Amino acid sequence: MIEIDWPERSEPAPWRRDGGKVVVCVTIDVDAESPILARGDHYAEHLSTLSHQAFGPRKGLDRLLGVLRSSDVPATIFIPGETAVRWPSTVEAAAEGGYEVAFHGFSHRHPVHLSADEQRREVDAAIETLTRFGVDPVGYRAPNWEMHSVTLEHLAARGLRYDSSLMDDDEPYVLSLAEGRLAELPPHWSLDDWEQYFFVPEPDIGQRIVPPSQVLQLWSEELEAMRRWGGLLVLTLHPFLSGRASRARALEQFIELAQGYDDVEFATCDEIARRVLADQGEPIAP
Ligand SMILES: [Zn+2]
Repeated sequence: MIEIDWPERSEPAPWRRDGGKVVVCVTIDVDAESPILARGDHYAEHLSTLSHQAFGPRKGLDRLLGVLRSSDVPATIFIPGETAVRWPSTVEAAAEGGYEVAFHGFSHRHPVHLSADEQRREVDAAIETLTRFGVDPVGYRAPNWEMHSVTLEHLAARGLRYDSSLMDDDEPYVLSLAEGRLAELPPHWSLDDWEQYFFVPEPDIGQRIVPPSQVLQLWSEELEAMRRWGGLLVLTLHPFLSGRASRARALEQFIELAQGYDDVEFATCDEIARRVLADQGEPIAP
């Protein structure tokens, strides 16, 4: 039998506050062109496909941040290093809006497909790039949620506070690695707009468009069911997808639903990471 080297993890801690049952972390992955170009340099000539992606930084991010601002909802914005270099306005808009900025690799290549050195360089280059904007990121999300143990260990070695890539729970927990401790904030494919809305002719990384009303139903049903058991609902949005008008409206409706419940709160990923690490006895620098 093949052994799996699972890192040691804590049981979910009493991380919710004030009798709340559900915390919603709204997260926005500003991928822009990076997932396409990561599939091959020749896609630099596929202008229509790249323009589909460029809708994110050109228009979609601003629309989504406007929805969040008008609803007074905090959010975490995950930005790949390449996006920060190509579209500096995305980092500036997120930081100036008071949102948490985290990172999402440099080139959007998936850790599981990279050598150990490449994985570490991806993390280092992305942090260095965001630092040039005055951002000190404390959290990471693996491109395509294809985490590898080398990347996880390197995040801990660099003193990061959390990851949001593993799917073995719907509550946050603490990973104890030889290099240090990381809070894990589990996402899920069903709460990611990519699986619902992504269509380009090529590369073959998504060929599906469903009505926003169906997506609103999917997310709303998970929110309402989580109110029975309690949990962390990590909503993942991409500006080139959810920034389209009817989809941004569905997000507004989801927020309106969630804000109608007394036992549901919104928080950034960093806020939840701080809580879960503090509950596990980890001192957190201010
Ligand atoms: Zn991504």
